[in-house]
Amino acid sequence: MWSDPRTRARLGRLVPPVGRRVDAVSDCLFCRMVAGEIPADVVHQTDRVLAFRDINPQAPTHVLVIPKEHHATAAALVAVDPGLLGELVAGAQTVALQEGLVTDGGTEPGYRLVTNTGPQAGQSVHHVHFHLLGGRNLGWPPG
Ligand code: 5GP
Ligand code: ZN
Repeated sequence: MWSDPRTRARLGRLVPPVGRRVDAVSDCLFCRMVAGEIPADVVHQTDRVLAFRDINPQAPTHVLVIPKEHHATAAALVAVDPGLLGELVAGAQTVALQEGLVTDGGTEPGYRLVTNTGPQAGQSVHHVHFHLLGGRNLGWPPG
């Protein structure tokens, strides 16, 4: 479906052409952090993934895990590079291990990984990011 040119045209700039590298967006906060123009408290990175502490933490551990390439949402990312979505989840697990939120091979005490999409979910930065939250009991359902 994503490779259908008509679908891609409908989705417009959210979905860049398959296989094409996505350029940094100059007015995107997270692209500017990736570029080093805005400081970030980095806790983990690979060549394609960056993880840094949220400026307004909602839990003892609150880390944002982002692709270094600009994609607006998880759906936009998975349409062009599903492997990179997997690298984000792996990056989050690496940080969770570092932060003592899980042990190698275990799931305790645990953490939450969440990505907000769109205004009703409260997405305020339009560069896909996973919130990695842990270090306290997290209520469910979320607010
Ligand atoms: P969203 O609301 O899009 O799901 O999440 C955006 C997150 O980015 C928020 O949790 C917010 O606190 C965080 N944030 C906004 N500006 C900055 C910043 O300049 N530095 C850092 N480290 N986090 C930020
Ligand atoms: Zn960006």
